[in-house]
Amino acid sequence: MVFIVKNTTLVKPFDLLFPHSCRGCGLIGEVLCECCKNNIIKNRSSQKRSNMYVVSRRDGLLDELIQDYKYHSIRALARPLAEMLDAVIPKNLPANSIIVPLPTATNHIRSRGFDHTYKIAKNLGKIRGYKVEKILVRNKNTVQVGADRKTRLTQVKDAYNLNPKFKIKKDATYILLDDVWTTGASITTAKELLQKAGAQNIKIAVLAYSS
Ligand SMILES: [Zn+2]
Repeated sequence: MVFIVKNTTLVKPFDLLFPHSCRGCGLIGEVLCECCKNNIIKNRSSQKRSNMYVVSRRDGLLDELIQDYKYHSIRALARPLAEMLDAVIPKNLPANSIIVPLPTATNHIRSRGFDHTYKIAKNLGKIRGYKVEKILVRNKNTVQVGADRKTRLTQVKDAYNLNPKFKIKKDATYILLDDVWTTGASITTAKELLQKAGAQNIKIAVLAYSS
């Protein structure tokens, strides 16, 4: 049985009745069906930087999924979002790879009720058998939304610190994980921190880039 619903970012009564209908095509069963997931992966970004893995540009269904996940707290999307990352991250990364989620501002965690990047990291870690370590911590609640580019770049420079609980392993591969790449300032800052602490192999994984 197939239900077709129009895509919109609003949560509709239909979604409340059938919480596990595909956000893309309405198919009952999973929050994102195999077909819609494969369509996103198939059309994945042609933009390639070395050591950086991106599912796709932030538009269409992928953009809606990210919004549903972050702003409507549809937590069940963590798994399919992680599966899409799994599809674009090379399979031959070392088994001792460590996923490092970019820390979410605590006021965002509070308002959403969960740490969205960490939840994707946990799912990806489970799929790959990689460890997830919260190596990065936020210094203060610097919130980027709405800030102009210049302000964001200055804010972000001292946004993170290393969690002393973790020791950086030189021979480990670190995968810095974030949802969206906009200016790249957050991830670049995080990468530099890890490098300064001695990390030698750092990869970057993001769901989407917007430009
Ligand atoms: Zn679908």
